[in-house]
Amino acid sequence: MRRLVFSAVALLLATTAFSQTICIDPGHPSEVGSGTKGKKLTELSLAWQVAKRLEKKLLEVGYKVVLTKKSEKEFVANKDRALIANKAWAALSVRLHADAGTGTGFAVYYPDRQGKADGVTGPAIPLLRKIRPMASTFHRIFASTLRGELKDNGLKPDKATAVGAKHGALKGSIHSTVPVVLVEMCVLQNPKDEAWISQPANQDKMAEALAQATMQAVGKVPRKKRFPLRHGTMRTDGKPL
Ligand SMILES: [Zn+2]
Repeated sequence: MRRLVFSAVALLLATTAFSQTICIDPGHPSEVGSGTKGKKLTELSLAWQVAKRLEKKLLEVGYKVVLTKKSEKEFVANKDRALIANKAWAALSVRLHADAGTGTGFAVYYPDRQGKADGVTGPAIPLLRKIRPMASTFHRIFASTLRGELKDNGLKPDKATAVGAKHGALKGSIHSTVPVVLVEMCVLQNPKDEAWISQPANQDKMAEALAQATMQAVGKVPRKKRFPLRHGTMRTDGKPL
């Protein structure tokens, strides 16, 4: 009976996943630099390793996957990362980072209001309404899958970040016409967090938690839905009025 239920769930997931695309955005290098570093592990390398593990898991269940970079060290500006997700009509863009500082654990960020950058106001209000419950589901599943492993610092608005405080939202969110969340997977400068995430088995646990959270978050999103951005009037020199 249990096997039958499991098969039914797997079939349902495979059917739902069919033709849905997930964008995975391994953070950095971008206009904000190459990211933080632990004693041995770099954010750049960690985000890439976890992204490749997550890609494999999502492909196995039947999703299409787009990565924002072709190689670990490829430079992609945060705006262009959003445009890659938009172009792919991603059901969700999952942005992977690791934090600096003295804290510990993970946090999930999402745009809770519009921001302004590069003459663009975004995300669109209907998209913000769509993202809120998705981000909430994403965080709930992500946190429950990692319970007992890393500290949960909660679901937070983009505005709680330095870039978000300046622009209202992260640039990768402002330019998004598809749902987007950003995960700070751990605090890489914390020796305990670095020791945990350095183990391949734990990187796999992280990827599994991200996969579960992604699958649950996109569960009810209609296929191919995009929300246009509002472009402000531009001066001839390209700067917003
Ligand atoms: Zn980062």
